[in-house]
Amino acid sequence: MGRVTSTDRRGALRIGTGLALTALAGCAPAGGREPRPARRPHRAPAPGPRAFPGLPAQIAHSPRGRPEVALTFHGQGDPATARALLGEAERAGARVTVLAVGTWLDEHPALARRVLDGGHDLGNHTLRHRTINSLPEADAYAEITGCADRLRRLTGGIGSWFRPSRAERATPLVARLARRAGYPHVLSYDVDSLDFTSPGAPAVTRKVAAEARAGSVVSLHFGYADTVAALPAVLEELDRRGLRAVTTTELLT
Ligand SMILES: [Zn+2]
Repeated sequence: MGRVTSTDRRGALRIGTGLALTALAGCAPAGGREPRPARRPHRAPAPGPRAFPGLPAQIAHSPRGRPEVALTFHGQGDPATARALLGEAERAGARVTVLAVGTWLDEHPALARRVLDGGHDLGNHTLRHRTINSLPEADAYAEITGCADRLRRLTGGIGSWFRPSRAERATPLVARLARRAGYPHVLSYDVDSLDFTSPGAPAVTRKVAAEARAGSVVSLHFGYADTVAALPAVLEELDRRGLRAVTTTELLT
């Protein structure tokens, strides 16, 4: 669908020793096409984090055993790709999880309600998408609470989930800071689509199809053309395998 050009993949190019590619999820695309109005008449309730007893502090996979997966999106970049992805998911009856970057919400505040009105989960992906695991404690905490403040202002709640920026998992310190900010769990993932490396839509589809299983949490990104082009095929492939795309809350409940 939308033809969008990614212009900034600087994160993917700085791969230091010991750092996984997944720790460098990129951002800041440019271009895009018209938004898709897909608002629902009802207003979803203000979301808040939940504690899931028995589940670990960092969740990468659901132990529930149902044939469901959670497609989770880094929320940043061109709002047209965000709207296109949400619309595409909704047309297929899928629900997703959007981890929003705080400064992105400052630029596009209407997207917070757009996500919730579509029946999706909305969460916190830090204020500025810095390498949060490397920040001093006070700065890391400010990154978490800065995004939480924006979510609260826009939706009435701090969002259902926290996911660290530029990291697959949070350090123990960041996980503790997230708990202090009100998020009992850190949302990690067990399938990385690598869509932010712009490998081409078929490669994104193949990677997700090869790795997703019942209970998987899949990492995807708003703001990349490949993700928009791949999503229908990803959803078809999941459907063919009997896997339903649900919100992370639904996956774990
Ligand atoms: Zn991210």
